[in-house]
Amino acid sequence: MDSRQFYIGGAWVWPDQRHDFEVINPATEAPAGVISLGQKADVDKAVAAARQAFNGWSRSTVAARLAVLENIRTIYQRRAEELSQAMTAEMGSPISFSRSQQTPSGEAHITTTIEALESFAFQQLSPRGGSKVFAEPVGVAALITPWNWPINQIMAKVMPALATGCTCVLKPSEIAPLSALIFAEIIDEAGVPAGVFNLVNGDGQGVGQLLSCHPGVDLVSFTGSTRAGTAISQAAAPTVKRVTLELGGKSPNLLFADADLEQATRWSVGNCFGNTGQTCDAPTRLLVERPVYDQVLAIAADAAATTAVGDPLTVGDHLGPLVSEVQFAKVQTMVKTGLDEGARLIAGGLGRPPGMAEGYFVKPTVFADVHPQMAISREEIFGPVLCITPVDGEADAIDLANDTPYGLAAYIQTADLVRAGRVARQLRAGLISINGGYPDVDAPFGGFKQSGNGRENGGFGFHDFLDLKTVTVG
Ligand code: NAD
Repeated sequence: MDSRQFYIGGAWVWPDQRHDFEVINPATEAPAGVISLGQKADVDKAVAAARQAFNGWSRSTVAARLAVLENIRTIYQRRAEELSQAMTAEMGSPISFSRSQQTPSGEAHITTTIEALESFAFQQLSPRGGSKVFAEPVGVAALITPWNWPINQIMAKVMPALATGCTCVLKPSEIAPLSALIFAEIIDEAGVPAGVFNLVNGDGQGVGQLLSCHPGVDLVSFTGSTRAGTAISQAAAPTVKRVTLELGGKSPNLLFADADLEQATRWSVGNCFGNTGQTCDAPTRLLVERPVYDQVLAIAADAAATTAVGDPLTVGDHLGPLVSEVQFAKVQTMVKTGLDEGARLIAGGLGRPPGMAEGYFVKPTVFADVHPQMAISREEIFGPVLCITPVDGEADAIDLANDTPYGLAAYIQTADLVRAGRVARQLRAGLISINGGYPDVDAPFGGFKQSGNGRENGGFGFHDFLDLKTVTVG
């Protein structure tokens, strides 16, 4: 495999026209690889291969699909270290984080998909018993993924596509495509029939848009920004294809005065900064009850000041760089905006951390006294920048938490579990975490409002890839 090739119809093929694109290592700003950006002819070829493979794959037995998924898991486990190294090179994920989080998250999707497929009800009777209802694969799925959790996002889409009998064309992020190419090799070795899985690299305006409007594509499953999700929905509308969206967030974190302040605040800062703040469901708005506000600020400032930033190749729990020059510039602009808006900087700020001359490294940053109408409180920053706002009691906290166009996640810190349950029911978000709870890997993942409309993970993720067919005998 040459990284400039695409994987189409079970073979590595050269693009129709050469269009090289450098993948940049964000820690060194040096090239980490070269891919090709695809054009219309490449997309047409991949969609045709997926269409051709659909008849056979959609009628394959569950046992046959399980056997393929088991093969994928075995080879994935064998190549785990290569996947970790690739993600560290392409998006700056610290190697310990790649090994402990990024790569295992992909394997978890294989495992939960296998578990779900073993008992999934692809047919059932209607409640009155007169009709048979079949769940059948939607068809050819275009899978468009982002760079922040590269292999996790790919596996969250490819696994349910394969399990349900869909065939697919994957377009990974052009910024972090190297792990995806390794995954295509895994697919190849696992004996996935030709055309069932295809990979075409490209950018959003090119391959992303071409797939979204392609008449041969039945479904687009997308994870990324709300901006791109809107563009994809518009491009897909004339052909009435199904579009499932996993988009951005600006998730609130409600910290009540009765919480264990030390533990809750450090957890909150750590989870906002994880993956260098480039996680869609990160708790980025910390809403703190006023009686404990100053105490929380002191702990948060200390937690940020003691958060290490360093070389992603070094083992340890430090943060790495942001993914790209573009993302570095965006985060700098947002920090400057926060300062201009009058938010109070209590940790970090503009520029690289001291002693770092190259790479897209930024300072872990905390703003206090953030007014809910400030841009830093409303817009996704996607960097290690925490916004803290005081609130006056439960009702005020819930109102502020819900005052956002997004609805991906919300977090609650309190010693009172009755209150936690009451508040959880009133928060408009797809994922609620109480006192640091992490959702099961097979629990549904997705957002309310402008955070999207799909649900991924385990059997819950199958529904996005299935159509229902009702059969009735007269
Ligand atoms: P992005 O939207 O810029 O790109 C995501 C993917 O879409 C890439 O493959 C890109 O090439 C493609 N794309 C871009 N514009 C397109 C267009 N007009 N038509 C078709 N495809 C297009 O997002 P990103 O910067 O790669 O990722 C960060 C964003 O992803 C953040 O907003 C983050 O919150 C979101 N995200 C959401 C989830 C979730 O599950 N909700 C998970 C991870 C990331």
